[in-house]
Amino acid sequence: MCKFINVHTHLAQDENVINIQHVHAGELDEETSKGLFSVGFHPWYIQESSWKEKLEKMRTEVKHPAVLAIGESGLDKVCETPFSLQVDVFTAMIELSEATKKPLIIHCVRSFQEIIELHKKIKPQLPWIIHGFNRNQNIASSLLDQGIMLSFGAEVMKQESPILEVLKNIPSTDFFLESDNKEISMDELYSKAASIRNENVEDMKVILFNNFKTVFKYAGS
Ligand SMILES: [Zn+2]
Repeated sequence: MCKFINVHTHLAQDENVINIQHVHAGELDEETSKGLFSVGFHPWYIQESSWKEKLEKMRTEVKHPAVLAIGESGLDKVCETPFSLQVDVFTAMIELSEATKKPLIIHCVRSFQEIIELHKKIKPQLPWIIHGFNRNQNIASSLLDQGIMLSFGAEVMKQESPILEVLKNIPSTDFFLESDNKEISMDELYSKAASIRNENVEDMKVILFNNFKTVFKYAGS
């Protein structure tokens, strides 16, 4: 039987779930390297004065086999970090993703056009996944047209949200589910997502486990 996949979380583990836990660049502790991780610069917490030093540390961290992805990193027009600094850091994360052959988990707030333009310009070989996607079908379609994947979180549990339509229509190879920083069980999230897509939970587990194996080159069970 497949485990649940939680593609992006900031919180602790659960035995029935394979988690990719977010760690800030420079803070991957060998002691805690029992799970699976993504390492990156969240746009909210980039410091102009220290990011380059942390990036050097991160270059070593991302070689660890437990680090499956780069991120979350990205662009956020609603935070205080200067946008040009965010672009510099995000560009470095794209390069690192390509160099290490590890996919990129993306935080995006009101910057979808910029992300799409960067994707068109750079034509990355590695998958990009927008985490916590909570926008409408039009934005989803322009990302999917570029081959960018989407990951859905707590928004799925709402009675009404534009993403319910997006989740219903999205091809099964193009998405993941996640808890992010919410106390939400993957069990509930899978059940709700499965009902929206008219699938059963076991089928959804197989689909998302296969996506996980393909995208993150995961060889375990
Ligand atoms: Zn997050």
